[in-house]
Amino acid sequence: MKTAHRQSIPGTDHWPFSNLSQTGILPASLCIHACLRMWRWLSTLACVAIASVISLPAAAQTLFPSSVVSNDIDFLRQTDPSAFYCLDYDGPATREMVYQGEVIFPDGVETFYARFSDQSMVEIWVHPAVGDESVARQKAMDLTLPLGTLPSWMRMPGLVVKINPGDRSAFAETLGRFFVVSSDNIEARLNTHDLQETVFHEMIHVALDTDHAKAHEWKAAQAADGAFVTDYALNNPTTEDLAETALFAYAYFNHPERLPVSVKNKLRDRFANRLAYLKPLLLTKSSGDSFRATPGPCRP
Ligand SMILES: [Zn+2]
Repeated sequence: MKTAHRQSIPGTDHWPFSNLSQTGILPASLCIHACLRMWRWLSTLACVAIASVISLPAAAQTLFPSSVVSNDIDFLRQTDPSAFYCLDYDGPATREMVYQGEVIFPDGVETFYARFSDQSMVEIWVHPAVGDESVARQKAMDLTLPLGTLPSWMRMPGLVVKINPGDRSAFAETLGRFFVVSSDNIEARLNTHDLQETVFHEMIHVALDTDHAKAHEWKAAQAADGAFVTDYALNNPTTEDLAETALFAYAYFNHPERLPVSVKNKLRDRFANRLAYLKPLLLTKSSGDSFRATPGPCRP
């Protein structure tokens, strides 16, 4: 009679059917015992699975996919005090633009100076393909309130906003002190009340990334918190975490009533180190504190 030889399988000491006969048939006297062992084994597996879910690293427990468009929180509002004073038109000119991934120097770029009551000034350049002067002016005007409600120090000298045609997402060039938005995307973000948050996010890149995004103290705060506010920050910890976290932190310090209580509590509990880091940078009464000076006359 041919007898099968059951090979022992490395690493399967806990295999519940170790009492199977060589024929693979379970003797009746062992049935209850084997079933009990099977039950214990399955219970152990279930416990391990549940425990692994409960002990997911905090980094995986983000609050939202992204800060600006993946939630309905109105971090910033159109009714917030704005330091915007007027928009000067400076005519068409040849300017450096970044369009579809390339640096170009088109003629006929419509140029404006957005001026603010704290004497700060932001250049706005509109790609000629966006439209004629009146269309360019409207697009530039759309940005003046989001720029005007920023804290005064964020409207840095030499800051430029470049407007491209199309519906691409905004991006910033930190060292060049500019950020780029697309004309149709301005419209879309206005409709979803996300334009102010978009401008804030890009301005954090321009104003803070160079000195803070890779600073030792910021990285230490990241490590100590062990969590990320959004998937976008989690997936891009050295480039997007500061800008993503800053929007939540700005609302946390200046407009806490705009955050859901659960979000506020999670920020307090999971992001204490980064909040402490950002507090001196972002805690501000509002840009209203910059209404001291009166700029000169505007050019139409
Ligand atoms: Zn960003």
